[in-house]
Amino acid sequence: MTAFDMKKARQEILDYCLRSMEYGLNFNTQGNISLRVPDEVNRFLITPTDLEYDRMTADDIVLVDENATVIDGPHEPSSEVTVHLAVYRRRPDVTAIVHTEPVFANVWGVIGEPITGTLVNMVIYTKGDVPIMPFALSNNTAFGDAMCDVMGDKNAVVWANHGLLTVGDNLRDAFKTSVAVESAARVLLHARSVTDKPIVLDFETLGITTSL
Ligand SMILES: [Zn+2]
Repeated sequence: MTAFDMKKARQEILDYCLRSMEYGLNFNTQGNISLRVPDEVNRFLITPTDLEYDRMTADDIVLVDENATVIDGPHEPSSEVTVHLAVYRRRPDVTAIVHTEPVFANVWGVIGEPITGTLVNMVIYTKGDVPIMPFALSNNTAFGDAMCDVMGDKNAVVWANHGLLTVGDNLRDAFKTSVAVESAARVLLHARSVTDKPIVLDFETLGITTSL
């Protein structure tokens, strides 16, 4: 087993932050990404608060413990760090978390309806419909716990009037899920503009867990 490379992990987080802007999932300083440090109990890398991604370097990524105390790094962690920590506590299967604020996923949050399975890969990645966490301020543990209740064992949840959170056992998968949700959210909006009953897929009856 290769040892965990902290420098490489910081760079990987930054790369996906930049990609989130490229894909139109984030703008300004919004969104945040974190990674559970393997082999170390309760250490997490997370993006800093209030810093534009295109001005960020890998060294700006902050290392925190399970209480959000900074262990290493020049900044305060993201204001939503306690939400990330709640997910890591509740979901031992999760190694990476991506929070973005994409337009089409947010449309469904504002309407208050789950993003149903319009596209097969989204359904596989998310493990079914993406539920909506009702609006609340997202800078505290109570929000994180309530959001985990809404998300259950799925890999995505929309925060009403705010954004999207996806999880995975690595950063690539968590990011792919964000992209897939936004794409499906966009298709669903178009489909619903012409019919109240678009054809959607159900994860339980799909019978597949790897992407097509
Ligand atoms: Zn946000």
